[in-house]
Amino acid sequence: MNIQHSTVVQIDYTLTDDRQQVIDSSAGGEPLTYLHGHGNLIPGLEKELEGRKVGEAFKISIPPGEAYGERDERKRQTVPRSAFQGIDRIEPGMRFRASGPEGEEAVLVLSVSEKEVVVDGNHPLAGQTLHFDVTVRGVRAATEEEVAHGHVHGPGGHHH
Ligand code: ZN
Repeated sequence: MNIQHSTVVQIDYTLTDDRQQVIDSSAGGEPLTYLHGHGNLIPGLEKELEGRKVGEAFKISIPPGEAYGERDERKRQTVPRSAFQGIDRIEPGMRFRASGPEGEEAVLVLSVSEKEVVVDGNHPLAGQTLHFDVTVRGVRAATEEEVAHGHVHGPGGHHH
């Protein structure tokens, strides 16, 4: 079976950045299992997987526009300390969920002063070209329920 819309796909992958640093990898663990064609992977990788079969391996470099987008400096903001009510300790490097103009987003704390906190709402991989080394490990048809939910059930997927 080839990878196509609404198939459940398993891949082994290693993701590295421009300096050949490993950002993420399935090596030593379970393969990544996802529902193809439902936006569960970055667009550039999903496109490259289309039509492939079990056992196929490839390398691809994906520019920011097909990955997590370009960095947007407007997402780097200074907010009052009072916006973090109920949180006793705020330190650089911490991540929070915050509601922004585009809905809920994760922000990274860059610096903290007595009255203000500087946060960055960009995805940590925004602006980066991503280099993937991928091997296809499994392809099966998705169940109707999986298609309706937009994600995989069972091993490697959601349990609910
Ligand atoms: Zn579900």
